[in-house]
Order: sequence, then C-alpha cells, then structure tokens
Amino acid sequence: MGHHARPVPAARRMLVVCAHPYDATFALGGVIGAFADAGTSVRVLCLTHGRRRDPTPRRRVDRARDLGRAVRRLGAEDAVLLDHAPGTLAAATIDELAAEIRSAAVAADALLVVDATGPGAHPDHVRTMRAAYRAAAATGTVLYAWTLRPAELRTTHQVLVIDADRARQRAAIACHTGLPENDPLRSRWMRHQDPAERLVVLRDERTLAPVDRPPERSPS
Ligand SMILES: [Zn+2]
Repeated sequence: MGHHARPVPAARRMLVVCAHPYDATFALGGVIGAFADAGTSVRVLCLTHGRRRDPTPRRRVDRARDLGRAVRRLGAEDAVLLDHAPGTLAAATIDELAAEIRSAAVAADALLVVDATGPGAHPDHVRTMRAAYRAAAATGTVLYAWTLRPAELRTTHQVLVIDADRARQRAAIACHTGLPENDPLRSRWMRHQDPAERLVVLRDERTLAPVDRPPERSPS
C-alpha cells in the first residue's frame, strides 16, 4: 500500500474523467492511488478507447480489460470506457459529453481530470476538461485538474500537493499489455518521478458561481 505524508482532500466518491485509457495511469495514476488510499471510492470514466482509431473490436476489448486491471491496481473500483473515437471529442458537443459524465458521476462529490489549460494541450483533453467542468458546475461537484505546469503560473486557483506512490503507478502501467516498450509515453513518465503531484482546484464546491470558466472556443 502507499505511504502518503500529505493528506488528500476528503472525498467520498471521485469520478476520474479521462479522454484516453493511458491518461488514467500515466497522468492520473499517482493521484488515483493517493485518493484510494485515503478511503475515497474512485471510479474511472474514459471517453475513448485509445489514442488512435482502432478498427479491431478485439483490441478494444483488450484495452478495456487492461484499463480495468490497471485502475484496480491503483485502488480504484473500476473503469468504464465510452465509444467515442479518439481524436473526435472536439466534434462532440460539450452538453453531450457533460451529460455522459453526469450519468457516470452519480453520487460523486469530486471529479478529477487532466489539466488542459496549457499550450499544446491535446484537443481531446481540452474537450474532456471543459465537459467535466460543465458537469461539475451543474451538480455542485469539486473539480480537480492534475497538472504538470509550474505552480507559479497559477494565480487564480488553489493548488494542492499530493504524494504519489510511483511503484504502485508503475505496476498499474504494466497492465497496459498493448503499449509498446519504446512508446514515448513511458520515457515521458520516467522523467516525471517527483513524488509530489499537483492538483489545481478548478472548481470548489463552496463556489456558487464558476470562478473561472475555461476559455470558450469559437463555435464550430
Ligand atoms: Zn490522453
């Protein structure tokens, strides 16, 4: 089990909302483990089945099975994968995605996403974060965003520091049987071995109105 020196915020049920299966482990795995260790019931909603379109149903089944194993390794209950195609989330409406998130977030008091406010964020991540924000605002739920951005760039939001159990995260990553050994995700993760993770509090439950809407995209 993990050892966490810093307490995580109290949450009974957390829904992790990610765009791609690998986001749940490589990006959010340390945070998921910390909340699970603190007694939070964590579930994962993944909006797509992968980073790329994959025409074979078998591969999708394998990926879903691997993600389920990975998140349970982190201490989460389970993972649900939706059928959006990777790379297409920007074409889905925010309302559609937010409704899917809300139906998965029943009884959740916190949502967790990947921070997509920085330059060069993946369009799927941007859409996922915005939809989660809308869902959180509609239900009065706390919204955390895991970020790698330097803390000094943040002035308007509270930033929390969470201890990550990297060994446990590594074990979860090992559940991704379809990910090549030389995939750049692995080397990128290896460079991020600081035991501390940072969470931006994008939405606090005490907030009556959104304090900082993510930038609206021009209508498409
Ligand atoms: Zn992703």
